[in-house]
Amino acid sequence: MSVAIASPEALYEKLKHIHVGNPLCEYTYERCIELFPIIEEISILKEEKNALILAHTYVHPDIVFGVADHVGDSYGLAKAARQTQASIILFPAVRFMAETAKLLNPDKLVLDPNPNGGCSLADSIDPDTVWRLRRQYPQHTFVCYINTTAAVKAACDVCVTSSNAHIILEKIPNDRIYFLPDRLLAENTKNRLLKRGITKEILSYPGSCYVHEEIQEEEIDLMRYRFPDVTVLAHPECPPEVVQKADVVGSTTEMHRYVVAHQHQRSPFFLLTECGVASRLQIDAPHAKLVGGCHLCKYMRSNSLQSILAALKQPKESDIITIEPQIQERARRCIERMFDYAE
Ligand code: SF4
Repeated sequence: MSVAIASPEALYEKLKHIHVGNPLCEYTYERCIELFPIIEEISILKEEKNALILAHTYVHPDIVFGVADHVGDSYGLAKAARQTQASIILFPAVRFMAETAKLLNPDKLVLDPNPNGGCSLADSIDPDTVWRLRRQYPQHTFVCYINTTAAVKAACDVCVTSSNAHIILEKIPNDRIYFLPDRLLAENTKNRLLKRGITKEILSYPGSCYVHEEIQEEEIDLMRYRFPDVTVLAHPECPPEVVQKADVVGSTTEMHRYVVAHQHQRSPFFLLTECGVASRLQIDAPHAKLVGGCHLCKYMRSNSLQSILAALKQPKESDIITIEPQIQERARRCIERMFDYAE
């Protein structure tokens, strides 16, 4: 993803287009002068150590455009982690994503440079709760969103992401599903299947993403009042009433692809997700007119170039992902089943 950035001027040329309504997302020339030496040092260390940097779309643009080798959603990044020949995987995102990379690469060194890599979804459920639910619903197939810890994945049958949940839930040969931990994604997926005439029983756990849960349908009404021809894109972690009013529903990668492909349309786009997607698009889709506010994920935004550099130089114990062998085996099977269904 990243092309080598040769100078602070080149960095500024790249990032100066980002204006998504939050000063944290904007770059001045002075800020680029400060960041450039860190980017240079990371690039040298990456080469020396044969390290791969996988960054989620929601992290700061200086990481996305400065040092990342792949940028995307959890499904795309899991695929990249599965295919890499690199010796080290460094994953600026949140903890469960780095754990997924480790599950797929048990023999590689996987580093999580985030000092606050939680996630309101992943933190909402623990494995004991899953085992209790399994005893309560023995006939159900247990499906977990990728936003779960390795230990929770080890207690489930199959994992899904926001881009393939509807495909996998349809393919599972059981009409009784327990979906965890995102109740909103569960409801949206159920509605999506219902529209196609598929009526499975889908029970769900009451977890949610704190960023998407707060998005309200009134935001769409206001935006349509101001721009009647606006195209509204929503992430399926948003509440169902938001998703139902959106023109396009998809993962961050699907939203990104849609806007890149339609960037020459005259009417604007309104993105209902974390503002990392909008800031990426201001560079990748320069003709697109983006309107609307900005929602930041405090967990993803705890990653920084400084923490990446420190982890690459000399990882702390807490940066290094380790997974107990019995969890490793079961959780990996849960993820591999996702690839089997999705591919
Ligand atoms: S945006 Fe939501 S689901 Fe994604 S890491 Fe942040 S809290 Fe978790």
